Amino acid sequence: MEAGMPSEVALVPERVLVGGELTPERGVGVWVAGEWIREVVPVADLPSHLPRWELPGATLMPGLIDAHVHLDLPGDGSTFAILSEGDETLAVLAAANARTALEAGVTTVRDCGSRGQSVYAVRRAAGMGWGELPDVVAAGAPLTITGGHTWPMGGEADGPEGCRLAVRRRVRDGCDFVKVIHSGGGTPNTAPWRPSFRPEELRAIVDEAHRLGRRVTVHCLCADAIRQAVEAGADQIEHGYFYVAPDRQEVDRDTIDLLARTGVAVTPTLSVAECQVQAEPGDVRWRHNAEAGRRMAAAMVEAGVRLVAGTDAGWRYVGFDAVRGEIELLAQAGMGSRGALAAATCASASALGLKDRGRIAPGMRADLLAVDGDPLGDLAHLRRVRLVLRAGRPVPQGGQASSGGDSGKQ
Ligand SMILES: [Zn+2]
Repeated sequence: MEAGMPSEVALVPERVLVGGELTPERGVGVWVAGEWIREVVPVADLPSHLPRWELPGATLMPGLIDAHVHLDLPGDGSTFAILSEGDETLAVLAAANARTALEAGVTTVRDCGSRGQSVYAVRRAAGMGWGELPDVVAAGAPLTITGGHTWPMGGEADGPEGCRLAVRRRVRDGCDFVKVIHSGGGTPNTAPWRPSFRPEELRAIVDEAHRLGRRVTVHCLCADAIRQAVEAGADQIEHGYFYVAPDRQEVDRDTIDLLARTGVAVTPTLSVAECQVQAEPGDVRWRHNAEAGRRMAAAMVEAGVRLVAGTDAGWRYVGFDAVRGEIELLAQAGMGSRGALAAATCASASALGLKDRGRIAPGMRADLLAVDGDPLGDLAHLRRVRLVLRAGRPVPQGGQASSGGDSGKQ
């Protein structure tokens, strides 16, 4: 708790997006006690002794979750060049990136791949309450075949036994989940349209991770990779692209139906191509990729596939505040404002197994975001951040001390 901040406070915005349905309610106050939400009650029922923070015109919603970031990458288009730096330098970069995310209202980031101890160091610092950092859920180095995508992060593993050993080493090092690379990607000499691991290797990874109580999410850029990952028992798919050749994606109905039927969530990371196009507007190839990505996401939404908001921040040109753009893209893909907001809050928390967050309800963590205006009416309001609370603690914006809204009783 910050000096000067009361241990209990009532937030009184114009509207609150309540519960797992993000139901907008007016005349409601959110009673925060320490790290937790204690009650969500009509303003008239708030105890009179409770200090109130009035947030007129604002909407209070759960803090955002970015389900796919790479904290130790810079998001400046240089991809893996940064990995020539030492772990200590990467940890400093990771902390700065994490802070950028938090100021944008992202109270939890899931790091889908880093090198060495850099991101674990930031997770540790966040847990100690040092600096202003979001919660970090981390995988360490992604498992990949020798020479596979992301191999410079240090996660090469081969053969079923080698793969089991790699999972055990990650659990020893404290991973929260296991990230697997099961197709090529943006690493030289890898092919997005081909799966990577042999099916028996993939099954060994999933089995070992589940035996040790860790979820598995799998990078898949082609339909065969997605299908094999689902058949191996993976919990989630990252990207979920459908490449059949360089720069060519084709909808695969059977694979999309499999995803819909099994309920395996997909993080479509639409921001990768969108941010690339924004950074290099003349790049026809990436315009085409962005358009194809939107089409694939729309096909998945239509088929009823669970989509989760994750940006791939750090990779290529994706910034650590990009989740707002990702939410807009998911809404345009057919999820609508509320569905897209759920994909970055309650639905994401449930897909990721984070039971204590993602909803405004009694007993949940006080990870909260207040924005000016109504984001259900216009998602652009997500960029008008008024207040961020992480575990009940107000986050200073841009290094400025936050007032936390107008204090005092009404
Ligand atoms: Zn990634």
